Amino acid sequence: MKTVTTLPELRTARAALPDPLGFVPTMGYLHEGHLALVRAAQACCQSVVVSIFVNPAQFGPNEDLAKYPRDIPRDLALLEQAGVNLVWLPTPEVIYPPGFQTWVEVAEVSQPLEGGMRPGHFRGVATVVAKLFNAVGPQFAFFGQKDAQQVAVLRQMVTDLHFPLELVVVPTDREPDGLARSSRNVYLTAEERAQAPALYRALTAAQTAYTAGERDAEALRAAMQAALAAAPLAQVQYVSCAHPRTLAELETIGPEGALLSMAVYFGKTRLIDNLVLQGK
Ligand code: AMP
Repeated sequence: MKTVTTLPELRTARAALPDPLGFVPTMGYLHEGHLALVRAAQACCQSVVVSIFVNPAQFGPNEDLAKYPRDIPRDLALLEQAGVNLVWLPTPEVIYPPGFQTWVEVAEVSQPLEGGMRPGHFRGVATVVAKLFNAVGPQFAFFGQKDAQQVAVLRQMVTDLHFPLELVVVPTDREPDGLARSSRNVYLTAEERAQAPALYRALTAAQTAYTAGERDAEALRAAMQAALAAAPLAQVQYVSCAHPRTLAELETIGPEGALLSMAVYFGKTRLIDNLVLQGK
């Protein structure tokens, strides 16, 4: 496995790799969810490139950029063991050199949900992913369903900017008790961790109601709120039942189904999760 930092190093190493090439962008502190993306890439690609970059542009001023968990030696050992061909570890100066001033904004689908709570977040995500795509030149790029709105934003960007690649979405990898794996789960205290599966329980409660025939979106949002109320440490920021493509809040779930999603604080730790209700 090769490890590179600068753009010229990356370009040389990438040129030596056979196509089709699969690309897995990450912020590091890798867990089984990231490795599921790597395995999906290996299943359809000749070579796999992983980037590790904690992107300052997608963190708000009061978010956890400085204390975002990092462990590059451990990450590299996991990727080597997984059989990844190339790891790109750019510095902030490589990605945002002095004088940098070009940003990618996906106007509409960036607005609701996470975009509403984290102004500028998806501008940072779209910009860095566009730059990573341009540098790596993959035929396939792999993202987790865990970040459902990120997928919607990046799909729109790939279409609008004619990126010649296919975006592949990998199902959310969960702990045995249902908690979605996340690098941020290490922030949870033991008590918070014990209550954190409330997110998945809330999603499955709403799914059960949907399967039983409930089509009123507000009733599903209420079912999620009720399930979250059973976790005393959970502070709900939002629960949503939205159109799966536009992400606009629904009144009634139609033939296209819905995206259930939520953001919940446990102490200072903000957790997100989601579940797709399949339509007809
Ligand atoms: P991050 O390092 O958190 O930016 O995540 C890098 C990629 O891994 C993104 O495409 C995430 O959606 C994906 N990812 C993170 N956690 C999970 C998970 N539990 N299951 C599947 N994909 C995930």
